[in-house]
Amino acid sequence: MEIKVTKIKKSRIAEVDFNNLKFGEALSDHMFSMEYKEGKWVSPEIIPFGAIEIFPSLCALHYGQIVFEGLKAFYTKQGTINIFRPEKYHKRMNKSCQRLCMPEMDFNVFISGIKELVTLDKAWIPKKKGSSLYIRPFVFASDNFIGVHVSKNYRFLTITSPVGAYYKEGLNPTKLITSTRYVRSVRGGSGDAKIPGNYAPTLLPAQEAQKKGYTQVIWLDGIERKFIEEVGTSNIFFLIGDELITPPLEGTILDGVTRDCVIQLAENWKIKIKERKISIDEVISASQSGSLKECFATGTAAVISSVGEIAHKDTSIIINDMEIGDISRKLYDEITGIQCGNKADKFGWRYLV
Ligand SMILES: *Cc1c(COP(=O)(O)O)cnc(C)c1O
Repeated sequence: MEIKVTKIKKSRIAEVDFNNLKFGEALSDHMFSMEYKEGKWVSPEIIPFGAIEIFPSLCALHYGQIVFEGLKAFYTKQGTINIFRPEKYHKRMNKSCQRLCMPEMDFNVFISGIKELVTLDKAWIPKKKGSSLYIRPFVFASDNFIGVHVSKNYRFLTITSPVGAYYKEGLNPTKLITSTRYVRSVRGGSGDAKIPGNYAPTLLPAQEAQKKGYTQVIWLDGIERKFIEEVGTSNIFFLIGDELITPPLEGTILDGVTRDCVIQLAENWKIKIKERKISIDEVISASQSGSLKECFATGTAAVISSVGEIAHKDTSIIINDMEIGDISRKLYDEITGIQCGNKADKFGWRYLV
């Protein structure tokens, strides 16, 4: 694939404080852009990061035909650039696109743009431990027509941002609260697609949780309001007795890449791992009987974030004395170790540029 490159005149990198990176704030010099016209992806190019011109009648703005992904690139200890599991993110992007009647893309096209972009902006990949270059590819409908229809034209952009550790608290345990009023998704909906349309409606419940002093909402299923689904925008795991449990992929939750890493590592370490339904009542009674050992959320941005407290109606449980659990820490160390080249890549997760 021939990518046209237009470089910036002057880099903005000197304005960025690499010792104090806030998630998603600094954006690197260039972006990758491509258009979908007459049934084909055309005009792949790298251009300076900056404003794009759109019309107020842009289809995506009105009806939300938009898909996004979030993955990371790392400088390894060996000095190479590692893009972490891009095949899996690409597959998921195509799946989300299918759900919204949007065009898919070949892996080769997806990765070529990222490789070229990351190589050109490699000075933006932070070198400090735990930090990385966050890569945000996204696709949106670009017809200019305000009727509900499947757009014929699309735009694909990839922007990147240097990021430090996600939570201010680092690995510090978070406090979660169930929402008894709102649900995130139901079977048959779009909960398993990575789309902005799933995000906007979660802002209000998250705000309400934060007003009550909690970090995030823990979502219950949309029908019985009983089974645990996700945390905010992360997947969730519970260690009960010697068994690691995570809700199954049944169309309402996202097939997280970090979730998959945890499952593969647990199997490899001979930890019993179960993908099964788990109710909030089961978690509360496991806590009361002393068998709930750990709870953590998984996602690309934070990797593993330990959960210290869960509130549900008028009950509240404290997990592992608000301390990070051994398995949570071990998983965090292993995944971040593989990402930055400190640990062996036994599953073939590193994609070296
Ligand atoms: C992105 C996302 C996740 C985490 O997936 P990763 O691939 O691990 O980053 C979980 N749930 C939702 C709703 C998400 O959007």
